[in-house]
Amino acid sequence: MKSHRKELWFNTPTRVAFVNITPQVQECLRESGVREGIVLVNAMHITASVFINDDESGLHHDYGVWLEKLAPHEPIKQYRHNDTGEDNADAHMKRQVMGREVVVAITDGKLDFGPWEQIFYGEFDGRRRKRVLVKIIGE
Ligand code: ZN
Repeated sequence: MKSHRKELWFNTPTRVAFVNITPQVQECLRESGVREGIVLVNAMHITASVFINDDESGLHHDYGVWLEKLAPHEPIKQYRHNDTGEDNADAHMKRQVMGREVVVAITDGKLDFGPWEQIFYGEFDGRRRKRVLVKIIGE
């Protein structure tokens, strides 16, 4: 069995951002040489997500609006987590809703997606360097 590990780094210019990381994951898969197996992609921070959905700008706007309704950033003082001196309680909650990781099957050397599926990095407390882990296992 082959195993391949890689970290992808991000530093988004905005607090909240959605980045299509499918090309980077495909590049990791090429490097691995795996033809049949599984890839795990997970955010390594508790205020960021990795998820699969459509690469459609209207949808990404809608996520932002919906998440801000669920867990508004302001007022900061509404969250007990922010009593610690942090201001990112909303980002922890947004990450919880959008998920930590995805697993995708690898078939014949390709990501075995359903229609329109793409892998995204979801950032909820950006403007600093953060990582995503890509772990590929198979043959
Ligand atoms: Zn925090």
